[in-house]
Amino acid sequence: MVKQQFKAESKRLLDMMINSIYSHREIFLRELISNASDAIDKIYYKALTDDTLHFDKDSYYIKVVADKENKLLKISDTGIGMTKEELENNLGVIAKSGSLAFKNETELKDGHDIIGQFGVGFYSAFMVADVVTVISKALGSDDAYKWESEGADGYTIVPCEKDSVGTEIILKIKENTEDESYDEYLEEYRLKAIIKKYSDFIRYPIKMDITGRKLKEGSEDEFEEYQEEQIVNSMVPIWRKNKSELTSEDYENFYAEKHYGFDKPIKHIHISVDGAVRYNAILFIPEKIPFDYYTKEYEKGLELYSNGVLIMSKCSDLLPDYFSFVKGMVDSEDLSLNISREILQQDRQLKLIAKNIKTKITSQLQSLLKDDRDKYEQFYESFGRQLKYGVYSDFGSNKEALQDLLMFYSSKEKKMITLDEYVSRMPEEQKYIYYASGETYERIEKSPQTELVLEKGYEILYFIDDIDEFAIKMIMTYKDKEFKSVSSGDLGIETEENQNNTDAEEKENKALFDHMKKILSDKVKDVRISKRLKNHPVCLSTDGEVTIEMEKILKSMPNNQNIKAEKVLEININHEVFESLKDAFEKDKEKLNLYTSLLYNQALLIEGLPIDDPVEFTNDICKIMV
Ligand code: ADP
Repeated sequence: MVKQQFKAESKRLLDMMINSIYSHREIFLRELISNASDAIDKIYYKALTDDTLHFDKDSYYIKVVADKENKLLKISDTGIGMTKEELENNLGVIAKSGSLAFKNETELKDGHDIIGQFGVGFYSAFMVADVVTVISKALGSDDAYKWESEGADGYTIVPCEKDSVGTEIILKIKENTEDESYDEYLEEYRLKAIIKKYSDFIRYPIKMDITGRKLKEGSEDEFEEYQEEQIVNSMVPIWRKNKSELTSEDYENFYAEKHYGFDKPIKHIHISVDGAVRYNAILFIPEKIPFDYYTKEYEKGLELYSNGVLIMSKCSDLLPDYFSFVKGMVDSEDLSLNISREILQQDRQLKLIAKNIKTKITSQLQSLLKDDRDKYEQFYESFGRQLKYGVYSDFGSNKEALQDLLMFYSSKEKKMITLDEYVSRMPEEQKYIYYASGETYERIEKSPQTELVLEKGYEILYFIDDIDEFAIKMIMTYKDKEFKSVSSGDLGIETEENQNNTDAEEKENKALFDHMKKILSDKVKDVRISKRLKNHPVCLSTDGEVTIEMEKILKSMPNNQNIKAEKVLEININHEVFESLKDAFEKDKEKLNLYTSLLYNQALLIEGLPIDDPVEFTNDICKIMV
């Protein structure tokens, strides 16, 4: 008999399983029962939609049998079974789901994390067993096969006998060691407790042969043992249960059992609607960003059940893109079972459910923000970007719903604040909601453009995400206040007196500025006296809608259309450097050339923009040094 080798990844995982720490072991049963339940789902669903198949409800069940003497634990199901190829493909290769792919080496070495929080399906059997045997007969097949493995050194598959369709998993439970006991997984009470804890809501009966004691017939004090088949689980799916009966732990177990995420959810939302459309849903806001979340591979969607039967594992129509991080399931009696994906998209009921869900998630996030700020900030750190994309996309059609969920870093508070908080403490005379964009908070804080606004005592929102400014442009105004970039031409802060002064200065120095403008003709739209600079000699500002940060972002996009910001070089006429400029203008035009281009390049550097010719720039600096 030829031993087949596991794929490399599977081997690593197996090693971890075998060496896993005690507290996580019990979940192997959850994993095997969940697979069994999925397998029954498949056959049940088929029977409902295929007239040639007839099954009565009693023929679907999962059975757990312990044989203490031989140290065997058997988990059997009447599910769809596996063909030889399926045994090979499904059990010989692991982690198609990718749960391993994203874990880095250190985490893998530990193994702790992956088993404790994730559940890794079938392979978890090796946490408690030396030998795992799978006997399976697939629906529609006459042959049965036996898959067997002792762990890391491979597996065998041979034909075997099995009467009925379904799968049996037989675990040869490990021998106890000095400090580890495995026997407990053969104890009735322990198995029962594990099933209750993790698999209570499995909708098919999980049967066990439970032993009891009763008085011997005709006797008054002698007992005899008897065995009776019992259903251990309550079979009520968690989403049909009353919210008041459920604890957070129940929801967390459900989240883990379903492999919705590898973390603990930040929040669960349990919805039961009994109106124009009837449905139950359990939704989760994850804590951590799924490893592939911001990639093309990530698929949003909720599990969709029709009256308890899974009909689609990722129904994307149930979630808007901006809530694509939400995990969970929806069960509705009003959906037809035979529904195809194409028809489903048009389905009126489904649309109603989706709309309803969207509203619920929004309001739940709002209350999280209100009632548990820390948790909300944790959520926002992970998924805030997605909300901002939501504001921006679809031509801003969702901005009303989402704008109150947004947060930005505040120059004043040095932490994240909402738009509402910003506006509510604006001084009366402040006209705009100010923001500044840049790479990091530290950089923005030091940028010359913020000087005047900060000196005025106004709060500035710091934008460091690419999407921020675009999203804000979409919102345009919040509570009647317009947003204003601190680097935009007109900040709306100048006093009349200031304005007159500048006008006078502007006139006086017109020739100088015109000259500088000529020097920088292809680079800037204008050269002006700065009304915002206090200590810095120069900065760049922009006229028009496109700011410098936006130009940078647009430039990095694949379909960039070479959209440019209209840059203005602002000069601080109260800075000593200005005197040198005036001097050079009068006496030495060559020098003015040099100074102008130096100042322009400095302004570029401050903005984090590349200098056209760095060599020339350094040469220019040398020129003034000698
Ligand atoms: P997952 O369940 O996450 O896909 P597993 O390693 O638990 O990963 O199982 C791999 C695959 O093996 C399953 O997707 C399923 O196709 C098949 N499988 C496992 N257990 C059974 C079973 N009891 N009956 C039928 N198929 C099963």
